[in-house]
Formats: sequence, structure tokens, C-alpha cells
Amino acid sequence: MTLQAPYDPDNIFARILRGEVPSVKVWEDDHILAFMDVFPQSEGHVLIVSKTSTARTLLEIEPEALARLTAAVQRTARAVEQALSPEGFQIMQFNGEAGGQTVFHLHFHIVPRWADRPMKGHGHAPMADAAELRALADRIAAALE
Ligand code: AMP
Repeated sequence: MTLQAPYDPDNIFARILRGEVPSVKVWEDDHILAFMDVFPQSEGHVLIVSKTSTARTLLEIEPEALARLTAAVQRTARAVEQALSPEGFQIMQFNGEAGGQTVFHLHFHIVPRWADRPMKGHGHAPMADAAELRALADRIAAALE
């Protein structure tokens, strides 16, 4: 997928947003969904998407939707820090296939990091156990402000 392509309404995140595919939700409101990455690069890897924008990449998103999205990233990262006490975290956001993007509905990754735990590769991590993801999501949700 190049940077310039139409939005595919059947991408996996669009299907999650329509409730056609299950997700392990952390929190949502009218504008935002935060959910667990099923192939986590570290424990507590969360994805943040806009419910209202069909931007594929950072180039396309409307400024107001981007402002809501980045505020949601900060709110969720604070909850991740409170809940899981990582020593650091990475915010990742990939654009275009050549830029590492695999799902073409704009999203931000929050990847908690610990010095003694190597991060798994993007697109190479094994699928997580659903019950373990649910437990992590519940801990993060409980720490939301
Ligand atoms: P990106 O490569 O930046 O487009 O990131 C897409 C992310 O979505 C990857 O980290 C995948 O592990 C993750 N992913 C793919 N399918 C699902 C799914 N059904 N539920 C949750 N995360 C997913």
C-alpha cells in the first residue's frame, strides 16, 4: 500500500469499530477506541484509533480528530504507567507499507518498556492469550483518569 490510496472500509480496525470483529477494549468514547494489540510487542501494548476519521495515515487526518487522538494517547499512556509501572514506553505510528504500516486505519501504538525485557519485533510477535489481554486491559482501565 502506498501512502496515496483510498480507505478500505473492510480493514480489520474498521471491522472492529463496527463490532464485526472482537477486540479487547481498554476504553472508548464517541470519538476514540483504545484496545489491546493481539500481537503485543511487550506486555501492555495498546492501540488507539479514531472512531470518526477514516484517515489511513498521519497525512490525512483532520486536525481536530488528531488532537483528540493524541490526547487519548497521553491519557492511556498515563494509565499504562500507573497500572503496569514500566520503566519507559514507546509511542509508535507507522505510515505506508514501506513505513512499516500493516493496518491502514491510522493508529498509535503504546508499547511499555522494561530495561531487561527485549521488545518483540513489529509484525513478528506471537498472538497473546485472550484472558491475559483482558486482565491487562482491566488493570489499565482501572487506572484511567
Ligand atoms: P501497524 O503495523 O502499525 O499498522 O500496526 C497494526 C497493529 O495491529 C499490529 O501491531 C498488529 O499486531 C495489530 N493487530 C492486527 N490485527 C489485530 C486485531 N484483530 N486486534 C488487535 N490488534 C491487531
